[in-house]
Amino acid sequence: MSGTEEFDVIIVGAGPAGLCAAMYAGRGLLKAVLLERGVPGGELLNTEWIDDYPGFEHVLGRELAKKMTDHATLFGADIRQVQVESIFRRSDGIFEVATSSGVTFEAPTVILTAGGTPTKLDVPGETEYAGRGVSYCAVCDGAFFKGETIAVIGGGDAAVEEADYLTRYAEKVYVIHRREQFRASRILQERLFANPKIEVIWNKVVRELKGGPSGLQSIELDDTITGVDSSLAASGCFIFIGFRPNTGLVKQHFEHDSSGYIITDDRMMTSIPGLFAAGDLRVQLTRQITTAVGDATTAAIAVEKYLTERRTRVDQASVGV
Ligand code: NAP
Repeated sequence: MSGTEEFDVIIVGAGPAGLCAAMYAGRGLLKAVLLERGVPGGELLNTEWIDDYPGFEHVLGRELAKKMTDHATLFGADIRQVQVESIFRRSDGIFEVATSSGVTFEAPTVILTAGGTPTKLDVPGETEYAGRGVSYCAVCDGAFFKGETIAVIGGGDAAVEEADYLTRYAEKVYVIHRREQFRASRILQERLFANPKIEVIWNKVVRELKGGPSGLQSIELDDTITGVDSSLAASGCFIFIGFRPNTGLVKQHFEHDSSGYIITDDRMMTSIPGLFAAGDLRVQLTRQITTAVGDATTAAIAVEKYLTERRTRVDQASVGV
């Protein structure tokens, strides 16, 4: 397949932000396409239970993903399963979104909702034992560790929440954090401290992951205060130390912070006119599903306004105003 297809807006990534943007684009009667390399749902599919999404005290991640997908589809979302390779803005203000299928999608606006990729520890053994003890997804891999001793690395919401989740399978879960205070929210911390299967190891960083033909066997640690090294026997190591925003698709310079998160204005527009960003890849105080859908709502409505202004400009230019 090859050729070109034209739209009002191209949405890249079908997590909560992308699905919400597609729903709002549908409400605004825009001709929109939502491009996603996998199954719609994004990070929702990597989370067993979602707590306190307004209206849902407790909902399965995959169930919320399906509800959001169905809701977007109800408003005519055109969801294509395809890998985006690049996003490029031409001098006439039209974006070319190249895909692995050979089809190039074109539109005057793009909403980038591609989320992020888990940050790697970058220590020896991490790549070698990936899928053989080392994991970045508790829901995907937790069940492989029934009755075993495992470790979770990190001190944010993801580490603390997923450690609690992993105790349904593992006999013992160590949470290893580089400081002596979690940055995770209080409610998640309280749940973790109340869980008898969890033990926290403070002030330690991973130096190396060691194992054998059967997979991971131990986690080599350094104490961040004393410098003393130690070894922890574990068959699993779940790494939750943050996300790197997926912004590499954009082939032109855009403003970003020192960690690569995209800076937008209050319409969610980036420093590239017509390119909007919503969700986890945007600079912001926190990254929740609620903030992602909030961003996406703003972005989709801002796209409508941008398109109207652009049409007016083009019309005026053509009559020589
Ligand atoms: P995060 O909040 O950035 O936390 C990353 C954690 O990993 C921090 O504790 C950090 O330590 C630690 N860390 C970073 N690099 C490290 C390294 N090289 N070695 C050891 N430790 C390292 O990331 P996150 O937990 O993935 O959460 C990302 C966003 O999603 C957050 O905004 C979070 O609120 C949200 N989220 C929310 C929920 C929920 O509400 N249920 C669940 C998951 C995620 P320091 O603390 O020392 O910096």
